Amino acid sequence: MRAFEYFTATDSKHAVALLAEHAPARVLAGGTDLLADLKSSPSHAPKTVVDISRAADMRGIEVNARGLCIGALVTHSEIMASTVIRDLFPALADAAHTIGAVQTRNLGTLGGNLVTAVPSVDSGPTLVALDAQVTIAGPAGHRTMPLSEFFVAPRRTALKPDELLVEIVIPAENLGKPAHFLKMGLRKGQALALVNAASSLRIDAKKNTCKDVRIALGAVAPTVVRAKTAEKFLEGRAATAENFAEAGRLAVADAKPISDMRASADYRKDLVAVLAKRTLEAACAQSKAAKQKGARK
Ligand SMILES: Cc1cc2nc3c(=O)[nH]c(=O)nc-3n(C[C@H](O)[C@H](O)[C@H](O)COP(=O)(O)OP(=O)(O)OC[C@H]3O[C@@H](n4cnc5c(N)ncnc54)[C@H](O)[C@@H]3O)c2cc1C
Repeated sequence: MRAFEYFTATDSKHAVALLAEHAPARVLAGGTDLLADLKSSPSHAPKTVVDISRAADMRGIEVNARGLCIGALVTHSEIMASTVIRDLFPALADAAHTIGAVQTRNLGTLGGNLVTAVPSVDSGPTLVALDAQVTIAGPAGHRTMPLSEFFVAPRRTALKPDELLVEIVIPAENLGKPAHFLKMGLRKGQALALVNAASSLRIDAKKNTCKDVRIALGAVAPTVVRAKTAEKFLEGRAATAENFAEAGRLAVADAKPISDMRASADYRKDLVAVLAKRTLEAACAQSKAAKQKGARK
């Protein structure tokens, strides 16, 4: 590994100042991706590394008027352990549980996972299916954008070199919206997704119809993609096994998978149909269970 200058930021404001002062610099959060990069490609070693891991203002998980706000430095293990997240969005905890192994989850952060922006990013689909927004801090202040627009290309995001991802927000109107995440890899643990998928929806209890349907797919396109053809098909339709299966088949139209050493494009398309259908069914079951629980109270 080549030598580099190293600075520790005390908070996000300090980190932004350090990034501006020492450009071009790389941000270090949990280091699970960055340190592997620095070791494997010394030619890409940065001149400066800004360590944000002690920036306390980027660590919290809270519900406020904006929705569920998760600091970019929250680790995958913290997401799994959070009772707030498990109550509101078990799918987020399930997605975190599929990332790497215990050590990776203890160090790896949600922000680092999203900024890495690999097509198979496991936190991506659930957050996109829940219309998450990201907050970015830079020299000019803060800006927000939908997470779906933050992903630009494989390993590329909308972040400028002097900007920091500080927070991920699931909007207040989606608090508790039923959602489900599934990942298929070559093994159960320590495996990148061949395909991952998340769906969210609401069920009109009187008519048994679907609304606000979102289906997000990972590892089948350069970035996480929404299966909009399938979403449109389900909107207002009956929440039946047949319609969820048809939505799964339609989701394949929005997937552009490649063949590689881990799976063929055709196998990935089959997985899209199955995972989209199963995540829809599970989100629907969650919605009905929540209504029954509410009715019993
Ligand atoms: C053994 C192993 C298994 C893994 N398995 C999986 C898996 O199953 N699924 C999966 O999705 N990922 C997996 N990963 C990838 C990785 O663990 C995650 O992406 C992790 O969440 C990255 O977070 P980090 O805090 O370690 O990021 P870092 O390594 O610190 O940073 C990653 C990148 O993001 C930038 N960055 C980090 N935080 C910010 C920020 N707040 N603002 C701006 N830039 C930032 C860094 O500069 C760097 O470019 C695995 C990694 C390893 C080593």
